[in-house]
Amino acid sequence: MENTPKKQIAILGSTGSIGTQALEVIAANGSLFDVYALTANNNVDLLIDQARKYNPEMVAIGNENYYNQLKEALSDLPIKVFAGNDSIAQVAEMHPIDIVLTAMVGYSGLKPTMNAIKAGKKIALANKETLVVAGELICDLAAQFNSAIIPVDSEHSAIFQCLAGEGNNPVEKLILTASGGPFRTKSLHELELVTSAQALKHPNWEMGAKITVDSASLINKGFEIIEAKWLFGVSPDQIQVVIHPQSIIHSMVQFDDGSIKAQLGMPDMKLPIQYAFTYPDRIKSNFPRFDFDLCSQFTFEKPDLERFRNLGLAYYAMEQGGNMPCILNAANEVLVAEFLKDKIGFLQMSDIIEDVFAKAIFVAKPSYEDYVITDSLVRILTKELIK
Ligand code: MN
Repeated sequence: MENTPKKQIAILGSTGSIGTQALEVIAANGSLFDVYALTANNNVDLLIDQARKYNPEMVAIGNENYYNQLKEALSDLPIKVFAGNDSIAQVAEMHPIDIVLTAMVGYSGLKPTMNAIKAGKKIALANKETLVVAGELICDLAAQFNSAIIPVDSEHSAIFQCLAGEGNNPVEKLILTASGGPFRTKSLHELELVTSAQALKHPNWEMGAKITVDSASLINKGFEIIEAKWLFGVSPDQIQVVIHPQSIIHSMVQFDDGSIKAQLGMPDMKLPIQYAFTYPDRIKSNFPRFDFDLCSQFTFEKPDLERFRNLGLAYYAMEQGGNMPCILNAANEVLVAEFLKDKIGFLQMSDIIEDVFAKAIFVAKPSYEDYVITDSLVRILTKELIK
């Protein structure tokens, strides 16, 4: 690998949890990777620091109000500066880029990911909402433009690693593990009173605020079953969720002969990020190693769909198909933002999603425009239902 040219990497969402860890992976492997582009939504200060340190060809900030600040702070460097969401989508298709890491939050990842796929880029997919909202569209585009999608989500990376070398060997089921989050042992009554501050204390993983709340409500696992359906082409009844509080087994694949393969490791996103960058190769890392002497048991539980209704609602959305997962995602983005401000209770999030499902307009075969309309209408509907 020493003589091959460095892979040019664009990080969309470089100031978030995945983005900053991706930059650490790149910094540790300077002979293999180059940062070509960095984009952020609002965190202009960190984007400036990152640009000065990693010297990309270009940077883009979604919020146009920060354009002048960004431009001035980098004026002594030959870095091209752009602003606005359209510019983020355009950065993703720049010719020299080999890999686009999609690490932005939520629905905003859809358009840039589509652009990157159409430009034939390899996608290191961390923005799971893209596949939740528009999985069919994305998979069709990826096939049409011969763009590989490598999962960064730890569960999907685990499954991807278990499938490596298996050719077309038939898969019986995918087993996604879930930590169970900070409220795993709370009763339904206790869940009525939990706060956003409690939800933000995840036992095993350090992540951004939105995904941490999503993990607490198990909707993150719900999104991940939908993500898995599209990434691996399995049917809903072939995806099982198992609570594994230690978060060491990152997920498993059961083959037609009954054999189960698992991928294990410390809960550290740098490993799946690095694997997505180096795939199909593995390279040496100094990430913390799992120590069997320190962990005496692995335990497993069945998820409780009465206390964590969001997971059941996600199964429902996946089975309905069409724009139902898009409806789920839009409602959830609004609800999580309100829960983070402690404007609504934890269990209310599921109540309102059920309400939204009953009232939103279902489209069986949505186009890209249908997704755009669904997303904006469901946000309005959800805000009305919160009042
Ligand atoms: Mn995950």
